[in-house]
Amino acid sequence: MSGGDSGKMLILPSDMLVEVAYPDDEVSHGAGRATAKCTYCIRNGDETEYPAHDVMMIRHWKANTPKEPDAGWWGWYCPEHYACTAPWASSLLAPEHLIPADLEARIAADREAAAWAEAHEFGKAEQAITLARLIPAGHWTTFGDIGRVVYGNTRSSGSVSAALTSLATSERCHSRVRDADGRCATKSRRLAQADEVALFQAWNEMAREDGLPVVTRTGVAFAAYRLSIADLEGLHQPAEYPSL
Ligand SMILES: [Zn+2]
Repeated sequence: MSGGDSGKMLILPSDMLVEVAYPDDEVSHGAGRATAKCTYCIRNGDETEYPAHDVMMIRHWKANTPKEPDAGWWGWYCPEHYACTAPWASSLLAPEHLIPADLEARIAADREAAAWAEAHEFGKAEQAITLARLIPAGHWTTFGDIGRVVYGNTRSSGSVSAALTSLATSERCHSRVRDADGRCATKSRRLAQADEVALFQAWNEMAREDGLPVVTRTGVAFAAYRLSIADLEGLHQPAEYPSL
């Protein structure tokens, strides 16, 4: 297209339909900026700036979002995260004029696809546990990175977390597989606060015994000791599992 972008119609964030992807540079919010960050990369500690046109902006609705035309929850997606995004069922709670006609059908189709994937993912939880137990002493990784290696996508950190939560709290992998911010994942156990604090201290004590430096006050493991994806792929041995 020639003539520059000066005549381009930009959409206001408050006019965006829910669960429809708009390139960041076509939303007035992002107008004029050449790059944008990805909400989900940032959660993984990755502050990469992507070309704004490659970053998709999606308006979601949460169960607790006030039902007002200007409300919503906006996310930015890099190409990798956009590729594995799915429509949020809670977006059906948005004001009617913001809901695209096909949203209900898309959510139903996604549920069906997820159920199919789950039925064919037999053994992945076991693989995630095996990989977690292979993390060498003095190193750490994240649920998201194990998900990437075992499940092949960044959406599976919750599945990895659920798999590891099924293990006894005395397993040393709990001090080596951490949230993206470097902390032990004691929250997923839903314990009383005193019990959670005790577990947090116990797991970080394990880390120190292993030679993994952890910030005393916050329990954050040092980034320099985090395994790379290549390291994890080297540890992963999916051939041990029967293929379906
Ligand atoms: Zn991303």
